[in-house]
Amino acid sequence: MRKYVIMGVQGSGKGTHSAMLAEDLDLVHIGVGDILRWNVQNHTKLGAQIRRTMAAGSLVSDDVIEGVVSERLSQHDWNYGFIIDGFPRSERQAEFFLESYDLDGVIHLYLPDSEVRRRVLARRLCASCGMDYNLIDNSPHADGKCDACGGELIQREDDTEEALAVRLRTYHEETNPILELFERKEYVITVDARPEMELVQAEIVAKLGLSTVLPPSSSSGVTRVEGTGRA
Ligand code: ADP
Repeated sequence: MRKYVIMGVQGSGKGTHSAMLAEDLDLVHIGVGDILRWNVQNHTKLGAQIRRTMAAGSLVSDDVIEGVVSERLSQHDWNYGFIIDGFPRSERQAEFFLESYDLDGVIHLYLPDSEVRRRVLARRLCASCGMDYNLIDNSPHADGKCDACGGELIQREDDTEEALAVRLRTYHEETNPILELFERKEYVITVDARPEMELVQAEIVAKLGLSTVLPPSSSSGVTRVEGTGRA
């Protein structure tokens, strides 16, 4: 059982790398932003409550977030563990989390602010399945259509210059101090998020002390990741 948190500024690839690690280690990927967006898109009561806050790039209240995270984790569908992305983002959320869960590691994806704007403004999302694209180096095969399901690619409501400026400022003011808190507990591995995706992923795997092992009889060419211990 492994429990990881992944942190990093907007556009650093938290969603992408969480999904890759989740697949390799059979972890459940919990994207708090994705859960919130699902609620907005599906016009739930919660969605109505948080829509404007999210579109402006501000943080949703700690009470709401703690409710969402507790509810998700209480489903206990994470037999082999989980990787949580987008949480915690404030000191209170960090305390709440550490009271209930022990962590195996915090993955910090480092990306300079100068690169954030370029990446985020080029980001597109499939309106049907949620798959992420980037028009710089991960464009869909057909313009504006999702490769996986053919759904329409849209820009996130908060991927605008104004909302991004708020999100980035909030990250540095509220979320960075948590990283320092986790660093003091020696949970954190920091990985440069600028190289291409596979290299970043390989560095995460190496720094977490996980090794990639190919079964001797395998002819599929698929590389599995096997854990060798705690981060
Ligand atoms: P990003 O990291 O790119 O800003 P996310 O998808 O993780 O995007 O989050 C989108 C928005 O959802 C945030 O700007 C914020 O409004 C809200 N949100 C997500 N996670 C949290 C959280 N832990 N605490 C408060 N608000 C959150």
